[in-house]
Amino acid sequence: MIAQEQKPMDEILGYLEGKQRIVTMGCGGCATFYQTGDKKAVKEMAEKLTKEGKDVTKIFLPLGISACEIDMSSVFLEKNRKAIEGCDAVLVQSCGEGVQVVREYLDDKMGLAKSVYPANNSMGNVGGGPTDFKETCQGCGECELGKIAGICPLTACGKGLMNGPCGGVREDGKCETDPEKDCAWVKIYERLEKLGELDELLKMREPHAWSKMKRPRTFKIEKPISLGRTMFGSIPEYVSFGLRKPFTPKHEEKAEGE
Ligand code: SF4
Ligand code: SF4
Repeated sequence: MIAQEQKPMDEILGYLEGKQRIVTMGCGGCATFYQTGDKKAVKEMAEKLTKEGKDVTKIFLPLGISACEIDMSSVFLEKNRKAIEGCDAVLVQSCGEGVQVVREYLDDKMGLAKSVYPANNSMGNVGGGPTDFKETCQGCGECELGKIAGICPLTACGKGLMNGPCGGVREDGKCETDPEKDCAWVKIYERLEKLGELDELLKMREPHAWSKMKRPRTFKIEKPISLGRTMFGSIPEYVSFGLRKPFTPKHEEKAEGE
C-alpha cells in the first residue's frame, strides 16, 4: 500500500489561492486506509475549504475504488463532469499516482484543462499495521528475496548491499548508517541460521540489476480488473472478515495459558 499523510492546510490553501470553485475528490484505496481520502477526510476537507470561502463539490470514492484505477474512478469523474467543467481547481485526496491518473484523464479523455493539486504526501510502499508501517520493498523490478532469506537487502540495508554485512555493523547488531535500525544482514544471518541455511552466506550474489528500475516504468496486464471482481466477487470474504475472531499469535496464546 502507498502510505500517505495529508499536507498542511497552509500548503493546500496556497495552491488554491485565487481559485473559488473547487472539486475535491477522495480515493477508496490506500487513501481510505490511511484516512487521507476516505469519506470523512473528504467531508472534513470540504468543510475547511468552505470556511475559507470556497465553493466546494465533493467526489467520494467508495471502499475498493481507487483513484489510480481509472477504469473505475472515471465513472465518478464523468458523473461530476458539470462540476469539474465549471471549477477552478481539482484537489485529489490520494497518493501522487491517483493525482496524476486523474489529471491525465481530465486532459486526455474529458478534454478539460484544469489545475490539479495533491492534498497528500505519498510516503512509499509500506506493509505492517495496525498502526505501525514499514517500507520493505521499493519495487525494484527484479526481486531478490528468493536469494536472501526473504529479507530485502536493497530496502532494509542502509547501503543496499547484496553481499553484507559491511564493515560498519555495530556490536549491538545495529546499522552503521542509523543506530536505531537493525542491521539487515544481521537479520538475514539470524534467519538463515534458524532455517539451517547459513551456507547461503558463502555464495557471492551478483550486483542487483537496477536497469529494471529506469523511470518511468510501464506495465501491462492482459485485461482490466472489473468492479464485479473487486467488490461483488469479494462479498463472502467481506462477510467472513466481519465475523472473524480477533487474531492471537500462537506464542501469545501460550504465554497467556502459562
Ligand atoms: S528485491 Fe526488494 S525492492 Fe526488489 S522487488 Fe524484492 S523486496 Fe522489492
Ligand atoms: S550495518 Fe548492516 S544494514 Fe547497515 S549498511 Fe552495513 S550491512 Fe547494511
